[in-house]
Amino acid sequence: SKVGAVSDLQHHQQHTALPDYNSTAFPWYPQLKEASNKYFKINDFRPLQLPIMNAAMDRQRDLFIVLPTGGGKSLCYQLPAVLEQGVTVVVSPLISLIQDQCFHLDEAGVDAGYLIGASTKEEVAQVTARLMSGSLKLIYVTPEKIAKSKRFMAKLGKLYEKGNLARIVIDEAHCCSVVGHDFRPDYKKLNVLRTVFPKTPIMALTATCSATVMTDVMNILGMPKITDSTKGTLLFSAPLHRPNLKYQVLPKADKADQVITDIVAWIQNYHPGESGIIYCLSKKDTHAVCEGIMKESNGRIKGGVYHSDLFEDDKERIHTLWRKNELHVIVATIAFGLGINHPNCRFIIHHSMSKSVEGYYQESGRAGRDGLPADCIALYRGQDAIRLTTLVVGDLNGKDNVYGMIRYAQDYRTCRKIFFESYFSNDPTVSSSEYSGQLLNTTSMDQPCELCDNCRRGKGDGHSVVSKDITLEAMTAVKIANAAQTSSEERVTMVKMVNYMRGRGLKKGGLEELFKSNDVEAAPKKKWTDAELEMMINYLLTEQYLWEDFHFTPYSSISYLKPGPLARRLSSLRKSDLQGDRQPIQIMMDFLVDESAEANLPRPAKRKRISKATTPQVPHIDSYDDDEI
Ligand code: ADP
Ligand code: MG
Repeated sequence: SKVGAVSDLQHHQQHTALPDYNSTAFPWYPQLKEASNKYFKINDFRPLQLPIMNAAMDRQRDLFIVLPTGGGKSLCYQLPAVLEQGVTVVVSPLISLIQDQCFHLDEAGVDAGYLIGASTKEEVAQVTARLMSGSLKLIYVTPEKIAKSKRFMAKLGKLYEKGNLARIVIDEAHCCSVVGHDFRPDYKKLNVLRTVFPKTPIMALTATCSATVMTDVMNILGMPKITDSTKGTLLFSAPLHRPNLKYQVLPKADKADQVITDIVAWIQNYHPGESGIIYCLSKKDTHAVCEGIMKESNGRIKGGVYHSDLFEDDKERIHTLWRKNELHVIVATIAFGLGINHPNCRFIIHHSMSKSVEGYYQESGRAGRDGLPADCIALYRGQDAIRLTTLVVGDLNGKDNVYGMIRYAQDYRTCRKIFFESYFSNDPTVSSSEYSGQLLNTTSMDQPCELCDNCRRGKGDGHSVVSKDITLEAMTAVKIANAAQTSSEERVTMVKMVNYMRGRGLKKGGLEELFKSNDVEAAPKKKWTDAELEMMINYLLTEQYLWEDFHFTPYSSISYLKPGPLARRLSSLRKSDLQGDRQPIQIMMDFLVDESAEANLPRPAKRKRISKATTPQVPHIDSYDDDEI
């Protein structure tokens, strides 16, 4: 059965009566309204804010909150913190986020302070004094304060004993889980909080999180299971779908300078002078792409680079310039993420795909926070996938996460909204008994968005889809992988695989015999482009006909293609088996056909040559050593 995110508070414990947290009848409601006005100048609550705050004030259960970035999560704990007795401890991953929040609270007249690794002795003494005197309503800390500072934990212990520890808030809670896309080791150590302060309610907050990550986070934090009828954690989750975001995957050109030209043409066409982000895979790429778009647009698109090597001051400066629209585009690694607040960001372009669907959803979700139309473009080329898998070899589930992204990028039929919904809800690693009936179906589930590229196909947007039989090509690829493994000890990278599939370089690879045997067939360029063969290989990887094996050098990791768990289905076949109409196995794959040329539609991205001298090259190679972001 399908489960999914829901737009309203769900009563997860159907059999125990839960109060109606949507109600305005709670005794604290007038105070909530008054404090909200007085401190935060907020008159109307956003969706879910009231039920979350009601549930918080009720203090009966732990709360797990999934609300998109900018959805107003902070208010959900700040306002209760102001009204409740004692102090609320907020764990947050980034110093800049913490300082930002405390600055705003200070301006609002709320007594808040923070302790971070860099706090001076005097600062620590001063904040601790306020904490112990009971004046402080909120104290923000980085996770290592919890993990490593015995003194701080002892102070909290004293407050706890006196009943003055109001709540523990874990912001960006997905950082607890190694399975998620932004694991931080110190977050894992937050498990001590429940052990040491068993009676203090916990509120965990995040913008996106799959069912697996959610379960993992709740385990780590010691939050009771959602299904526990008497004391289970309450889940509040906003709908995944953002109706103003138009999702598209566009084919990425082979040549780096052409990619730049296409990006510039697209921006000039659809969002001239507007704000956006271009996400790149590596720091090196951000510089090349940023210089490229500035030159290619003759300075009309003003860009700035953002990645983890920049000094904090520079990061702040770039972010501010961008928010003031003095810079149009930030060209960034995923280091540009947490804490971004720019409501009218009109587009997010992924120069390379993200490492996971979760990451992509979160990164692209930074567009259109004001609710107005915005574009989310992923540029995709088959080769990039291998670049990604070699980057994530060390991560738990790293390869599978990338394969999820490949499925997204090579899916030309499923509505993107439906793809996300099923990705985030039908999580096979969560046993159905744990989740069934907990996240309820809403009527909007399974309804196509009517806006994304896949919903718009054949309606004048340029590309339509055809399904092609690739059984012969798949058989060829699998047999090459087999032969390379067994007879010649040849190691086949993706680039080599494409060559071999074309019947090139066979002698060097010791694969002549294979091709003589007449059981494989070279794929001609007339029939398949390199890009199509690469996507075919990716498809065979995601379907387990092929398998990636990684080889590590001191400088890089290299991906080699091996026969996959399902290879046997193909390796015993002969070409003659594929003739006639009773094929024992048939593998079909979708391809895009560009209809605009025939239909004479104007191409959105005009192709033109630009001189090599003006455009820095983004390297395209098989393996990558630059995994720094
Ligand atoms: P999140 O943590 O979910 O990403 P924040 O809590 O930082 O989002 O809130 C984003 C912005 O929305 C902040 O500027 C905040 O002041 C504003 N905001 C929050 N709730 C409301 C509301 N009910 N009405 C108007 N603005 C709000
Ligand atoms: Mg936040």
